Amino acid sequence: MMKTIIEPFRAKMVESICFTTRAERKQLLCRAKYNLFQLRAQDVIIDLLTDSGMAAMSSQQWSALMRGDESYAGCSSFYRLGEIVTNTFGFPEVIPVHQGRAGEKILFAALVKPGDVVPSNTHFDTTRANLEACGAEAIDLPTPEAKDSNSSYPFKGNIDLGKLERLITTRGAKAMPFAMLTITNNSAGGQPASLANIQGMSKLLRKHEIPFYIDAARFAENAWLIKQRAPDCSGLSVSEIVKKIFIGANGCLVSAKKDCLANIGGFIAIRDRSLARRLKDALVLTEGFPTYGGLSGRDLEVIAVGIEESINEDYLHYRQASSMYVAEKLMVHGIPFVAPPGLHALYIDAAKFLPHIPALQFPGQALACELYVEAGIRSCEVGSVMFGKYNRETGKETTAQKELVRLALPRRVYSQSHYDYVAEALVNVYRRREKIVGMKIVSQPQQLRHFNAFFEPIADS
Ligand SMILES: *Cc1c(COP(=O)(O)O)cnc(C)c1O
Repeated sequence: MMKTIIEPFRAKMVESICFTTRAERKQLLCRAKYNLFQLRAQDVIIDLLTDSGMAAMSSQQWSALMRGDESYAGCSSFYRLGEIVTNTFGFPEVIPVHQGRAGEKILFAALVKPGDVVPSNTHFDTTRANLEACGAEAIDLPTPEAKDSNSSYPFKGNIDLGKLERLITTRGAKAMPFAMLTITNNSAGGQPASLANIQGMSKLLRKHEIPFYIDAARFAENAWLIKQRAPDCSGLSVSEIVKKIFIGANGCLVSAKKDCLANIGGFIAIRDRSLARRLKDALVLTEGFPTYGGLSGRDLEVIAVGIEESINEDYLHYRQASSMYVAEKLMVHGIPFVAPPGLHALYIDAAKFLPHIPALQFPGQALACELYVEAGIRSCEVGSVMFGKYNRETGKETTAQKELVRLALPRRVYSQSHYDYVAEALVNVYRRREKIVGMKIVSQPQQLRHFNAFFEPIADS
């Protein structure tokens, strides 16, 4: 048997990368006010900002696109997508939406009222924002192992079932319109929830008659990691594991921009027909008629093919090999990252990488900027810039629990030599880490500041 794992695809169309010099990148970064979201994509050599909507489509998806039925009502593309979603996830009712957060808004508006409590392992940021916009309290109950970046616990995406049960007892099942589980748990480093945890959650919720919805943007990667990490599931196919994940849930919300290999789109899939009717009535107001939900017929086709490709085990194996490949290179050089690596991203521990930079000087932002100057690589700070808060009245900053830099791995986009390049750049930056200085924020908006804040390096004293 061959030991070398290769990308299970070859290129048919290519997109050129524009190269820049180090001097040019210093200027571009200064002009972008040291915020990588403000760069033009053409000034980036390797773009690891996110894995969302950046997948390379397959020839199957491009050809399905031509089949897209653009009829306003009852297009055949909708029925094709519906059939594939129902076969894959097991839910009879499928409601397309233009992207994940639109599905959140529609479902939550139907089910949530002010004062409600909605627990999850960890809510995704738009999920939390949409729940809070409905007046609910979004509560995170991750398993305690998720907090320890050195722990190699295989299921750091689990929800803490003991805490969930206590929350149900103290707040009462009536205050919980439903509970959620994010798979994989993005905020915990793309870590999976185990099948046992998902089944345990389903059983507990059923006992209290609380509906269960899964936030399933990375369902295929979660299923693959279950197959790899749970000895009793190694004999099951990914497709079988996917069915077992959803069988005890009332429905799921899916952003098709992640595992479904689409550049835009999403859907709600549920069992309850009368709820589906209510959601479809609401959908018409903001998204569109229920057989297109704000998407074109060709988008529906692309998502349908993408779902089938997302659970292909050769593809998932390659995906894991890519993230392990980068992780092993970092390990050899002692570069600190969150273990064990997930599939959609690697998270560098910037607090350990740059111990001389305090959290209030944003070590993650400093590292992300340095990586751009070094090699034109765009990554994303996930630390006190993203999760810290500035109090305008007191002028005080609160910091995040962790200072991370996320290297997201867009699906089917980069090859092994690109990742060699990324690892070399990280090693170069690591070697001169003592010389890297912290950053300060010179202006920031009230909310979601990581997108629009302006920074400056703190001058060497
Ligand atoms: C991306 C994502 C969403 C939101 O989806 P969009 O398509 O970006 O609107 C919700 N939940 C999870 C877990 C996600 O990863």
